[in-house]
Amino acid sequence: MPTRHDLLVELGLAPIWRRRAGVEFPGAGEPVAAEAAATAESGDIGTAAGPVAPVPASAAREPRAAWAPEAQAEVRAGSGEPADAEPRRLRISGLEWLDLAADVDACTACGLARTRRCSVPGVGAREAEWLFVGEAPGAEEDERGEPFVGQAGKLLDAMLAALSLARGRNVYIANVLKCRPPGNRTPEPAEVEACRPYLDRQIELIRPKLIVALGRSAANTMLANDATIASLRGRVHRYRGVPLIVTYHPAYLLRNLPDKAKAWDDLLLARRTAVAG
Ligand code: URA
Repeated sequence: MPTRHDLLVELGLAPIWRRRAGVEFPGAGEPVAAEAAATAESGDIGTAAGPVAPVPASAAREPRAAWAPEAQAEVRAGSGEPADAEPRRLRISGLEWLDLAADVDACTACGLARTRRCSVPGVGAREAEWLFVGEAPGAEEDERGEPFVGQAGKLLDAMLAALSLARGRNVYIANVLKCRPPGNRTPEPAEVEACRPYLDRQIELIRPKLIVALGRSAANTMLANDATIASLRGRVHRYRGVPLIVTYHPAYLLRNLPDKAKAWDDLLLARRTAVAG
């Protein structure tokens, strides 16, 4: 029977993410090679990321009907928040999985509803112990309605595999924003606030043991600060009572291979935190 490593090699994702010699993960499965962790052994981004298969036209949904500006809630004077923000938050906080996905799909709370092709609520096990949170869907995610399916997603999958985790099996993957900002621009604060009730409800439903914030944007949003990633890494934060670890965004790691070693350290801290929790 092929080992997980054989599988990663087969997928073109190894040798990239290897456990350090002597590092044991409770319940993690088979033994691992004795090599320095997460060093860019091949130094080949192409290997880690791999070419991305084109999305069949049939897989992409039709663009959504134009966002109706008249559906936008009136902005409460001075608050910068739509007048119906609190009732909306309350309503979303009571949604179950199916209704939550439908609500995200029908959402017009911000202007991204005008430009998205697909909403991208999230993917994974509903009772996952690990929740990974990125910034916002990119172009491929917008086409397919699934988070982290582009090149950064392939690297994320390799990172997960090195921890004996797998998309759809024992992790949940989501973004702060459920719709793609045009041109992958940085999310605007109003968009983040409009989308936050969805992430918060997902966290309530999943009740993860651990959240991993992928990149500064996701980390700053959840921790409500403007701190650098360097200052946020290496310690355990909390979001809504759940331990939260900050690491680099996989897209950043694709461009900065040496920092994969640091990201590996972050994942080991995450693992220790999850096991202790
Ligand atoms: N980057 C993100 O932050 N999320 C995705 O889903 C894809 C790329």
